[in-house]
Amino acid sequence: MGLRTLLFGLAIYVVFRMLKNRIKRTHTTPPAVTYSDTVTCSQCGLRFPNQESNASDKLHFCSPTHRKQYFDQHGA
Ligand SMILES: [Zn+2]
Repeated sequence: MGLRTLLFGLAIYVVFRMLKNRIKRTHTTPPAVTYSDTVTCSQCGLRFPNQESNASDKLHFCSPTHRKQYFDQHGA
């Protein structure tokens, strides 16, 4: 029983570590590298090539839908 308990504890420990690493990885924001050819959607934060943006003033939107949503929420 002692060995089984030890192995069970070890398994939980390994799983816990893996989960912790995965959470850490997903929550770690990528380095703030600003690519000159990409912009960030002001509504959802999606990065996308600047050519495709529906630019309005200095705001960028990945889609006309998000532009509408943004201005519906923020006025103007
Ligand atoms: Zn968007």
